[in-house]
Amino acid sequence: MSEPIGLEAAAHPVAHGPSVRLARDELPGRTACPRDPPPAPERMRPDAPRRGKVFLIGAGPGDPELLTLKAARLLGQADAVVFDHLVGDGILELANAAASRVYVGKEAGNHSLPQDEINRLLVELASEGLTVIRLKGGDPFIFGRGGEEAEELLACGIECEVVPGITAASGIAAYAGIPLTHRDHARSVVFTTGHLKDGTVNLDWPALARPAQTVVIYMGLGALDVICRELIAHGLPGTTPGAVVHAGTTNRQVTVTAPLARLADTVRAAGLKAPALIIVGSVVSLHALLGRPELHAHA
Ligand code: SAH
Repeated sequence: MSEPIGLEAAAHPVAHGPSVRLARDELPGRTACPRDPPPAPERMRPDAPRRGKVFLIGAGPGDPELLTLKAARLLGQADAVVFDHLVGDGILELANAAASRVYVGKEAGNHSLPQDEINRLLVELASEGLTVIRLKGGDPFIFGRGGEEAEELLACGIECEVVPGITAASGIAAYAGIPLTHRDHARSVVFTTGHLKDGTVNLDWPALARPAQTVVIYMGLGALDVICRELIAHGLPGTTPGAVVHAGTTNRQVTVTAPLARLADTVRAAGLKAPALIIVGSVVSLHALLGRPELHAHA
């Protein structure tokens, strides 16, 4: 899908509370964010409007029980929740019943709302004096654009606080029985993104193909062929164990493992779809022993 059409409120199961459905043109004007906050004296006047606050909150990788206590508490105090598609089922239900919910999407190649409009929306809501929860899958600061949103908010004089979440790599690896580091297998772990830009994946292949290292690739399913080919071309043996985990930590989790040389074909044959996380390295061999019972498609 190309052109985003707006904020679709009900794409997620929402148990309570009003949903907000805004067309892009209906978003409030950008008056409140000229990147020049009101001067301090004005803000201190008793009649000055209350400034809201934005909490950038990580919702974890899927299982709602992986949410932090802090995130759950803040959700209960929210006036508005602005959320992505990767937020796990059941988590929105923890939000204050009266809070409005705004879905802003973020699937690969299908950004329901461009990042600058998400930023603008957050600024506008907070400028109305609301407590705004910006809820993201995983951790806001790991491939979550949380840094960009925080920069924009601070530039606009909006108070902002980040609440970390369990990132996909650590949550999914745990549920799949794959320790990301292990003294017999890997002394370092690298998180990277396999998101294709202009049809190419520009990664530091020599650095990723080092021995005794685990590589975790976010947003890499569409580039899995290229990733496996390049890792082998840069020195990783084709026998290196690899895993692709779909919908990790949810009750739909599916883990596919195969040697690197056959990983892409095996994943294709299994029909795995996004969201999927790729893990490459000797630690993946521990999945056979430590993996929870689930669907396997070993090559
Ligand atoms: N901020 C998030 C990552 C967002 S990027 C975090 O810290 O986890 C989105 C990518 O994360 C997806 O393309 C996928 O590679 C990975 N991902 C997130 N949740 C996932 C899940 N439940 N199962 C598999 N992959 C997941």
